[in-house]
Amino acid sequence: MSYCVNCGVELDPTAGSCPLCGTPVINPNAPVDRDSPTPFPLRRREVEPVDRRSTGLLLTGMLGSIALCCSLLNRLAFVPHVPWSWYVAGAAGLIWIWSALPLLIRMPLPVCLLADLAGIIGFLALVAWRTDGWYWYVDLALPIVALSGLLGGSLAYCLIRHHSRLTTLLVFLIVLGIYLLGLEVLIDRFNGGEYTPGWSLIAAAVILVVAAIFLTVRLRPRLRAEFRRRFHS
Ligand SMILES: [Zn+2]
Repeated sequence: MSYCVNCGVELDPTAGSCPLCGTPVINPNAPVDRDSPTPFPLRRREVEPVDRRSTGLLLTGMLGSIALCCSLLNRLAFVPHVPWSWYVAGAAGLIWIWSALPLLIRMPLPVCLLADLAGIIGFLALVAWRTDGWYWYVDLALPIVALSGLLGGSLAYCLIRHHSRLTTLLVFLIVLGIYLLGLEVLIDRFNGGEYTPGWSLIAAAVILVVAAIFLTVRLRPRLRAEFRRRFHS
């Protein structure tokens, strides 16, 4: 058995050069076996491209039949007086928007995110309608979804622009902090009371400390280089 003199990887007797680093194998005690078949293919083959359209149609069929079967089961057999199948149908619709729609129609990312948000708003509206809960829908659910959409969108925008991993992490932490603070404001407002900063302030303070550490690393070239070496970013 030979080992690569450069990277140390164990070599197959049929290998004329290291499959990892390409260093030629020269071992007078174990000449390269050129007659036996190599354990891995030498020719590179293409992986068959996934047909997006048929995958989308398959998902549509599956989700549609789940919704249909559940509504039939609900009507005919299982607790017909509780219309639970509405929620299953709504969830199936939401999963369809998230998974099948982008496969069927090519959309730019912002449109895709808007469609996802619209799906969540629609699903929550369905739950509010079935449970007569429009008060929480308008006062709590919609503001939270709007806040999530706004912050999620800005985070996605930062990610698309291919910043370094450190910058992305920093932006993520800042967005998370703002999100938690906003969440507590909304929940407090919904509960009818004054905004009293509590758990979100503690979380935001912790996040601020971590973000400050990352910011220090980012601003100091030597620390930044060390971080890059450690995390390969
Ligand atoms: Zn090697």
